[in-house]
Amino acid sequence: MYFFYNYHYHLKDKIMNKCRISLFGIILLFVSCTTKIEENIGQTVITKWQGNKQSAISITYDDGIINQFTVARPIMNKFGLPGTFFIITGKVTGSGKGKFIGRPEEDIIKESVLVKTNSDNFFERASLIGFTGTSEALEYHSEAGSLFESGNITEAYELIDKVYLKLRSGDLKNTDDVIFHNNPVDTTSWNDLKAYTAEGHEIASHTVTHPRLAVLDEVNLLYELEQSKSDIQKFLGEKYTFSAECPYGTENERVMEYAHKIYPALRNRMPESYLDELNRASKRQPGKSEKEYVQWQRGPLTNVSMEIMKSWVDTCIKYNNIWLVLVFHGIDGIGWEPKTGDELEEYFSYINKKGTHLWIATFADVTKYIRERKNAIISSMVQDNTIVVNISSDLDPEIYDVPVTLKTYVPKAWKSILLNQKFKQENELKLKIQKDELGSYVLYSALPNEGELILKEK
Ligand SMILES: [Zn+2]
Repeated sequence: MYFFYNYHYHLKDKIMNKCRISLFGIILLFVSCTTKIEENIGQTVITKWQGNKQSAISITYDDGIINQFTVARPIMNKFGLPGTFFIITGKVTGSGKGKFIGRPEEDIIKESVLVKTNSDNFFERASLIGFTGTSEALEYHSEAGSLFESGNITEAYELIDKVYLKLRSGDLKNTDDVIFHNNPVDTTSWNDLKAYTAEGHEIASHTVTHPRLAVLDEVNLLYELEQSKSDIQKFLGEKYTFSAECPYGTENERVMEYAHKIYPALRNRMPESYLDELNRASKRQPGKSEKEYVQWQRGPLTNVSMEIMKSWVDTCIKYNNIWLVLVFHGIDGIGWEPKTGDELEEYFSYINKKGTHLWIATFADVTKYIRERKNAIISSMVQDNTIVVNISSDLDPEIYDVPVTLKTYVPKAWKSILLNQKFKQENELKLKIQKDELGSYVLYSALPNEGELILKEK
């Protein structure tokens, strides 16, 4: 970010040369001193967080579990807190379903008799196995993915060989194991989801079927990412195709490369060098980070105490660079590691009470704000009794539409200040004058590239 400001109080330089110990001189010295304090008049920055808050919190949910919408959402609505729901689109009626794309199934199975699993056929076999029709096969797909991602490649190949042997012998079964992300009661419809977006919530992608993307071949990997995006676009609109979370919190390089080309923001990982990311497993302390922003992900699992959960919020308030991203799964007995509705009631009430310090916003809105701030070029000009501010940005205004908060220093002598935006002449806004160690300032919101912002003394 840059700012330029033209300073029109040149008088003081001339004064310094002429200064003598005389009454006139003393008066001039006084003028000089007071103007010196005000050297930053017109200086304008975008505050770190919207509303000049101390930190940001995004409340996110994974897997589209029904109780997230019927239990957690109403509590959030009561406190006016927006959430981000990463949904598995294949579970929603009307969407593209999960499927294997590739050679005929029987060819792949036949080949597995003759050719052991290797780097050439592993992705194809691991992609197919999840769609062979039993919950046991699905579990094996997930297990192979877990082995592969933790670097146990040989074990992953051996597991696939074992599973294909079972498949060929008809030994794969439907087990009674609960698949947490895929409850039969998750019957939320696109109409429901549309209504939730109208309440201010973000609906975002968590793929079509929640696979281990790292072990899918290219065509199946792309289907999971692209079909999910196109259904969200079709039923909810372009706005909700901004964020995604690839299942199991993967940070697999190959997956990240594909996913970043399709979604502008991933909760898994972001490309920005100024953003430190402490994922859910990280033991690092966010306050120790030297980066400008820290995305601090925490998972309130079943056994995480209320005290710990509240301490995350308190930590945010202690520093000013933390973006706390909460990751919820199950609620009231349905879904992985569930919390109860009562716990959410207490926790969201706590967050709400600390609202004067916190900006609670969706994952997309916080991402957009940070990028808008880092991309903006700000200029300001001081003329007589006005300060003219301009912000420009090369980000797409159709996507980057979150208002940024500007902070401009104003002369102490100004007692009442009006903001006039040229593009909305009729809209003159009286601003509250505030003070910090650098002087008097005003806060106001604006979007880049929308024309001059004129602050004037009334
Ligand atoms: Zn998930």
